[in-house]
Amino acid sequence: MSIEETAGDIRDVIVVGSGPAGYTAAIYTARANLKPLIFAGSVTAGGELMNTTEVENFPGFPEGVMGPELMDKLEQQAAKFGAQIEFEDVESVDLEGEVKSVTLASGETCRARSVIIATGSAYRELGLPNEKRLSGHGVSWCATCDGFFFKDQDIAVVGGGDSAMEEALFLTKFARTVTVVHRRDSLRASKIMADRALAHEKIRFAWNSEVADVVGDDKVSALRLRSTVDGSESEINVTGVFVAIGNDPRTALVKDVLELTAEGTIAVQGRSSKTSVPGVFAAGDVVDPTYRQAITAAGSGCVAALDVEHYLADVG
Ligand code: FAD
Repeated sequence: MSIEETAGDIRDVIVVGSGPAGYTAAIYTARANLKPLIFAGSVTAGGELMNTTEVENFPGFPEGVMGPELMDKLEQQAAKFGAQIEFEDVESVDLEGEVKSVTLASGETCRARSVIIATGSAYRELGLPNEKRLSGHGVSWCATCDGFFFKDQDIAVVGGGDSAMEEALFLTKFARTVTVVHRRDSLRASKIMADRALAHEKIRFAWNSEVADVVGDDKVSALRLRSTVDGSESEINVTGVFVAIGNDPRTALVKDVLELTAEGTIAVQGRSSKTSVPGVFAAGDVVDPTYRQAITAAGSGCVAALDVEHYLADVG
């Protein structure tokens, strides 16, 4: 069925997002015979794992799996059970009332009795061309995901907040040295985290420094640093760089309608996926300020699908 054909219908459920959360919600709602309509996004379809190489921590793949291959399998699995997947961007939503509507960038509007928001979150980037090019080849945003690949290597963490210190401390389990690159001469992190990092024998600090470039042909070989005091440049030899300068939940579509948390994620009730608006559910990194893993996002997509089933059964 095309989007034009479906526009007149009132569907049971629309899912916005096609990362692990969105596709898992699609698989479960499709198998519950709710004929979900998924808006996967256009250029960002498949979500964050499309930007990575090897994923070694998703259960069921003892040899590891490439991020795009995993997302392709999830898409196939959702389609196999009858999910209608459209590679379109949702531009606006009207979520109040019993029937919800979503309007696409193409101008079409689709309606459903329930909506699952699974739009993920975005790690902040340094904004350097070589950072993008070497993503998955030494540049990472997730120590839990990629720390294991850097055993006995010299690596860097960029950032000065709590999450940067957490990443740096975690990475000391694998790396030979971890250099924290920070723009100022003192850390923004809480005292307890800062003290732990400052006292760690494997952690060094490049103070008053910003990253001018990530150096390397196929893999990261160094970072070029620029002094924030006098603009002078220097290089440190590292084979990995973890960018830990923040993460923004993708809430632009819903921030004026749904309640958000202090961290900027969509607020959900307890362990459920229920948002502040009945019939609207949220799953994955857009609700998660803490774990942000593919498997936790998938688990939360499952929760949202089951919550939708119960909601639709209750409203009749
Ligand atoms: P996402 O995967 O971010 O998906 C969001 C979806 O929303 C996308 O499909 C996008 O197209 C869609 N979307 C957003 N806005 C709109 C809109 N307006 N209209 C339509 N669609 C929209 N985790 C691991 O467990 N293991 C790893 O090895 C690992 N490696 C990673 C490597 C990198 C480089 C990064 C950035 C992350 C990595 N992660 C890893 C984390 C993991 O990718 C995320 O936790 C997971 O993808 C979150 O899933 P999600 O479904 O919530 O969101």
